[in-house]
Amino acid sequence: MRIGLNAGHTLTGAGSGAVGVLTESIETRRIVQAVTPMFEAAGCEVVDCTVDRAASQSAYLEEAVRMANREDLDWFISIHLNNDAAKKGEGVEAYTYQGRQYPDAVEVCEMIAALGFKNRGVKEGTGLYVIRKTKAKALLIEVCFVNEPDASTYQRQFDEICRAIVYALAGYVGAQPTPTPPAGMPEKKRYVRVKCDRLSIRNSPSWADQAICGTVGKNEVFTVVEGPITVGNGRMYKLKSGVYITAADKYVEVYEK
Ligand SMILES: [Zn+2]
Repeated sequence: MRIGLNAGHTLTGAGSGAVGVLTESIETRRIVQAVTPMFEAAGCEVVDCTVDRAASQSAYLEEAVRMANREDLDWFISIHLNNDAAKKGEGVEAYTYQGRQYPDAVEVCEMIAALGFKNRGVKEGTGLYVIRKTKAKALLIEVCFVNEPDASTYQRQFDEICRAIVYALAGYVGAQPTPTPPAGMPEKKRYVRVKCDRLSIRNSPSWADQAICGTVGKNEVFTVVEGPITVGNGRMYKLKSGVYITAADKYVEVYEK
């Protein structure tokens, strides 16, 4: 996987970012610097698309896009911090072409939000130059706002925010080794799919015939809440409805989502 990383805005002068409690241009570089070795450790190739100086805002944008488009990238990611005139905005949001809800973009927002930010979601970013003009799948992340209450949370959770970005983007395309997930990551749900017809479900974790309370059919899917639990010589899963089902590979398969 090949990722173009753009630390949003020039460092100073034309095209530089928002200034509040946090200075956007400095923080976007801090994030890119931190996530680059993490992406590389997960087997991703990182192409730096950061522009430190430009004659104007538009010259900055054109240069960033030029750097991205001369590479064959799987993802182009531009990192930003948000700002609003009232200095009251809070939360994480991301922008994609036509607001496409790429699962990895949605996960970035969910995972950063789980670290103590409001989730503003994935939005329509076609109007943004770096989204519209880059050939690769493009994502612009507004990690949080430059003022309070986000600024303090950002400082405290900086390492976890970086982990969230790498885990959501690299971890879900099977990067090896899998990046470390951020602390407080929303838990993934486990599901069990039935592989055969007339499979027994049980009202208690027991293989006794009296425990059987019904049957389920091939390709039915249930949410797992516990297990596998050892029961006698076998193992079972407890399902969301409170019933138990065998955990034997021959009869069921489990997956996360
Ligand atoms: Zn910005």
